[in-house]
Amino acid sequence: MLRHVIEHLTCPYGEPSLALDGASLRCPAGHRFDVARQGYVSLLRGRSPAAADTPAMVAARVEVVAGGHLEPLRAALIEAVEGTTDSAGCRRAAGADPGSGTGERPGLVVEVGAGPGHHLAAVLEATGAEAGLALDSSKAACRRAARAHPRLGAVLADAWQPLPIRDAAADLVMVVFAPRHLDEVLRILAPRARLVVAAPEPDHLGVLVERLGLLRVDAGKPDALDRVLAGRADPVARRVVRWTRHLNHAEVTTVVGMGPSAHHLDVGVVAERIAGLPEPVEVGFAVTVSTLRRR
Ligand SMILES: [Zn+2]
Repeated sequence: MLRHVIEHLTCPYGEPSLALDGASLRCPAGHRFDVARQGYVSLLRGRSPAAADTPAMVAARVEVVAGGHLEPLRAALIEAVEGTTDSAGCRRAAGADPGSGTGERPGLVVEVGAGPGHHLAAVLEATGAEAGLALDSSKAACRRAARAHPRLGAVLADAWQPLPIRDAAADLVMVVFAPRHLDEVLRILAPRARLVVAAPEPDHLGVLVERLGLLRVDAGKPDALDRVLAGRADPVARRVVRWTRHLNHAEVTTVVGMGPSAHHLDVGVVAERIAGLPEPVEVGFAVTVSTLRRR
């Protein structure tokens, strides 16, 4: 629900706060942002970026998640964030659930490029965090994310622009296979709070990249992440997660359909190449999950 995250949002035109006013959010200077029927708010300055995920890409991602194909990634993300409740960046929750142990849990968890919100929902559930904020530049993704979890609010925003979030608001930020603006990510992180970044390894979906001519996703080397953040955030943990799935051709089609290649490849050509694959085909997934702590 949007109301869980409003206190952390800022006006994209610069004012430091937004308040709910009827069916919209309003800043002190009078800018008004309508809350969509589906429960998300657009804080874009202008139109959605051209590279935003299409409804078909988002639907494909939902299907891939439902098929359990990303389960090891989900587990690795939860493992990476579970130490979060020990970090000094966490606030003591006012009304911690009975039986939740120490009563410490993260306040706000932000996912930049959250897609339909499934990773963020899983992390909210695992950590008991007070609220989750899903940012994505795709309307289709925000519509899904807005109902992915009861404590999750979805905001349409461009991850390459200043993020419409207050300084140091987040106890945890996640970036999973999404373009990232690291200066902005650090700005919204509380001191000592964690950043979890998942990025594909060069051999991620190797057989599909080779046989179908998919784009190789260059998410940047993990060492480069450390270098860019040197002096501002310290590496805490890094793990490469590898798993394989035996996919039939329909499943291959959805895996291809959720990725960036869906923007670039001719559907007919891809279908022809998929038909030429063995069935089932063994597909290797490979993702690095890096955890860093802001200074
Ligand atoms: Zn404003």
